[in-house]
Amino acid sequence: MQTIKGIPVSPGVVIGRVFALDDERRRIPKRIVPKATIEAEQQRLGSALTGSIEELTAVRAAAEREMGVEAAKIFSFHIGMLADKSLIDPMRRMIADESVSAEYAVYRVFADWSARFRAMSDSAFTTKANDLEDLSARVLKRLIGEHKSRLAELHHEAVVVASDLTPSQAAGFDRRLVVAFATDLGGRTSHTSIVARALGIPAVVGCGDLTRAATDGTPVIVDGDQGLVILDPDAAELERYRAYLEQRRVFKLSLDELAGLPSVTRDGVAIELLGNIEFPEEVDAVIAHGGQGVGLYRTEFLYLTHETEPSEEEQFRAYSECVRRCAGRPLVIRTMDLGADKYTQRQAEQPERNPFLGLRSIRYCLKSLPMFKTQLRALLRASGLGPLKIMFPLVTNIQELRQAKWVVREVMEDLAEEGVAHDPGVPMGMMVEVPSAALMADHFAREVDFFSIGTNDLVQYTLAVDRTNERVASLFCPTHPAVIKLIKDVARVARRRGVPLSCCGESAGDPEYALLLIGLGVRTLSATAGSIPALKRLVRSVTVEECERIARRALSFDSDASVAAHLRDQARRIIPEAFEGRSAEAHA
Ligand code: PEP
Ligand code: MG
Repeated sequence: MQTIKGIPVSPGVVIGRVFALDDERRRIPKRIVPKATIEAEQQRLGSALTGSIEELTAVRAAAEREMGVEAAKIFSFHIGMLADKSLIDPMRRMIADESVSAEYAVYRVFADWSARFRAMSDSAFTTKANDLEDLSARVLKRLIGEHKSRLAELHHEAVVVASDLTPSQAAGFDRRLVVAFATDLGGRTSHTSIVARALGIPAVVGCGDLTRAATDGTPVIVDGDQGLVILDPDAAELERYRAYLEQRRVFKLSLDELAGLPSVTRDGVAIELLGNIEFPEEVDAVIAHGGQGVGLYRTEFLYLTHETEPSEEEQFRAYSECVRRCAGRPLVIRTMDLGADKYTQRQAEQPERNPFLGLRSIRYCLKSLPMFKTQLRALLRASGLGPLKIMFPLVTNIQELRQAKWVVREVMEDLAEEGVAHDPGVPMGMMVEVPSAALMADHFAREVDFFSIGTNDLVQYTLAVDRTNERVASLFCPTHPAVIKLIKDVARVARRRGVPLSCCGESAGDPEYALLLIGLGVRTLSATAGSIPALKRLVRSVTVEECERIARRALSFDSDASVAAHLRDQARRIIPEAFEGRSAEAHA
């Protein structure tokens, strides 16, 4: 048995078997092949090596023509290495002795050699290590590069284990088959994690070396509540988890009963609970979980799941589907928030050095006006069918907001001229998810119909912590006093100016954090469907006065850890049943 600690990003516990997904080339998981196919694996290795040598020979000839004999020597060196027995024989032996896939043998042997070279202090060896990594990538491309995702081979329920997953890979999972996933890389608020929550698939990311240890078919427990991946669990561990699953099942039943009850605090204050969605079909899940509408529809997933830009008609269908399913309930549709970790094919052609600080979200829209206008036309046409609000992401200065609103007006004029129905008074609001927007909330408040605080990005940009990077995950702290102070200020401005305010970052779905948000004056929380029942349980168990007291005390601390401990203690006191089966330390 081996227990690996990662970052819990989507709750739930699953007991299953590993399906190693080696589409990601940075690290190839160890996959055991049946004895009968060893010969075939050796042949695959052989042809990948021959193919790579042929390719390199052509590259060398071209390099000689264009850069001269001297420069082309590097490729002779590469060719020589691929024919070198001391490098290749260990691969063959590994396949024969350990029954591993050809790609794993190639990856492992190259990785070991390059690690050995890197460990030497002479810089000439570091260069050699780079050569080896280059070569490894070339051979691996032949083995796995062009092939379709291994997921197509998945026909039974399994836990996907991969080095990393893109948001669209996760969005494409067949929920009936992928019962959980765990990755080496990733952070809590990366969009892949968000998709996991949307799909209701338990997930743990940032597990470091998991793919090295997990082979296809290994029994595994994924504990998405605590962020643990247990490989080859022993009987006692399995028993413990089965008991825990039963406890959760009973708790969930008690939550299900809340769906039809109002979301009101004990002192009679209504707290609106809305859902975050990535796909129109999720509206039903939000309502079934007791949500009162949709507080955030991340429309960029329309673009991410299409090879090309979705047409106006395709978008109109998606937006009007939401309007229909919401049936008069609140519906906030955010304009596409592309860039950073959500790239379309077209954007990927022009990689950015620092994409989280690059051409993303509203900046990208304002630079791609035809695309933006197509989306707005579809959105406005849908607004003619029922209530919806438009929200702009990542606004950092007032000009962006004005420009965005101006483009909306322009599209409205076009529609009016064409006689196309739409809501001319469609409310327009903005995300507050960068410090500049929070600090300038007073100015923005005069020009928007509503605010929504996005803690995922607000934390990322306030604390300078990449939300997708597992190496700094421990620094990603929504409870950091600086973040709380910004939220407090925005809430004060919103109250003073009468601007409706919600919070739709992942933290809004965390009951502990919700205590703080309510205490700071937030009255609308928008979260993944699955987290709405627990939020409602919390709301119905507290008074606003109590939350205000909790928030005041939280504001007196100087560290994120103290705030987090305080919120946890209070939540445990208020809804102890949510913590049953968990020790205090385990939850820390
Ligand atoms: C946020 O940043 O908090 C947010 C809700 O937007 P996204 O997670 O889509 O960036
Ligand atoms: Mg955001």
